[in-house]
Amino acid sequence: MRVFTASLSCETNTFAPLPTGMAAFRERVYYPKGTHPSDGMLHCAGPLWALRQRGVSLGWELIEGLVASAMPGGTVTRAAYEALRDELLADLRAAMPVDMVLLGLHGAMVADGYDDCEGDLLRLVREMVGPGAVVGAALDPHCHLSAEMVAQADLLVCFKEYPHTDILECAHQLIDLCAAKAAGRIRPVASVVDCRMIAVMHSSREPMRSFVDRLHVEERGPGILSVSIAHGFPWGDVADMGTQVLVYSDAEAAPGELLARRLADELIGLRSQLREECVSIDVAIDAALAGGSWPLVLADSADNAGGGAPGDSTFILRRLLERGVSQAALGPLWDPMAVRLAFEAGEGASLPMRIGGKVAAVSGQPLDALCRVLALKRDMLMSGLAGTKAPLGDCALIDVEGVQVVLASVRCQGLDPDLFIQLGCDPAGLQIVVVKSSQHFYAAFAKIAARTLYVDTPGALSMQLAALPYRKIQRPKWPLA
Ligand SMILES: [Zn+2]
Repeated sequence: MRVFTASLSCETNTFAPLPTGMAAFRERVYYPKGTHPSDGMLHCAGPLWALRQRGVSLGWELIEGLVASAMPGGTVTRAAYEALRDELLADLRAAMPVDMVLLGLHGAMVADGYDDCEGDLLRLVREMVGPGAVVGAALDPHCHLSAEMVAQADLLVCFKEYPHTDILECAHQLIDLCAAKAAGRIRPVASVVDCRMIAVMHSSREPMRSFVDRLHVEERGPGILSVSIAHGFPWGDVADMGTQVLVYSDAEAAPGELLARRLADELIGLRSQLREECVSIDVAIDAALAGGSWPLVLADSADNAGGGAPGDSTFILRRLLERGVSQAALGPLWDPMAVRLAFEAGEGASLPMRIGGKVAAVSGQPLDALCRVLALKRDMLMSGLAGTKAPLGDCALIDVEGVQVVLASVRCQGLDPDLFIQLGCDPAGLQIVVVKSSQHFYAAFAKIAARTLYVDTPGALSMQLAALPYRKIQRPKWPLA
């Protein structure tokens, strides 16, 4: 059996100021066909990695196409999307005939002229391979699940965990199901229920923890093949945005329809408990200064590069300095210009620097301070989710009036304490650690955090959803009107 795999992935924040063009893909992940490295799984390419592990034992001939993924940002340019889509399709055309196509997608890519990139891509893949081939894809749960995607694919499987620690498990499940479909052992039938709501669902805590655990039990129920919860991505203004339940049942729709409806009703019943409490910057600092065990890890959710934010906002840093807080670290703050100056000055140098606040209004104002360069590292890699590695580019650890700040030349959210440790800063010994991330930080930072607080900051991922200028989402959609 000939199996084609490829990946095209980006989570688009349609409210974010940064354009996402080819440079954003080339800087992050861009491997033309057959060139995906062999030293580790990429976040976006779980199916490819799982196929490399199992393809031979399954007796499958594996053909690897394009793998491309950009750090989330604003709307993808039409030129970039069309170029990458067409490269992937050309790879598939050259691989024809194939019996199966397994894709690593995100599910929330929006390009200029394309509100549903994945629906567009899956339709063109289906047109090429015909109805007889098996088409499957792994999706991030922060996807906009469209009717086109469901119609064109035989199987779509979302990661269940948030933080997404189950990327590889999800890929293996997709392979198992697609193998069974190709062998004629199952006939997947999709059932989708729209919860008509927006929710942020952290599986690191209740009630989502127990809910996700139970999804695995439900998948072993009679006639059920797989269960996915598409959380939706609230910062993508498209018609399909929102929480949806996707269940595949075998041959008959009824068991899947019943289960999808029941799980949707449960999520609707839980929705007010799913919301993570966010506190103001001052309340968060007060909590740290009030004593108790250290460190207090603060999530700067709204400036999460992993959700399309610039990653250079200064709101929390400025308040730390205004309140005279030391014993604190913050990172990663995206500022390639400041990194360059730090490298030019060298380790141990003191110099006036203008930090952050450069990209747009959501970045806040730049911060001017006399800084000392504590450490420098070229091409730094940070540990990521599920054993992956995330590049931060050239990085500098600087002291800003007592606060240690990691400046990065490549945009990325904070995923692991090693982003500080590699530069000689031990976050476990500090009072406050500010991480630019919404939730993925939790997987690794929970190991050192005495406490964690999610901070309600201004930014491109503001939790004040009612204030976002949505134009395309379908209403009503709880908690909006
Ligand atoms: Zn996600």
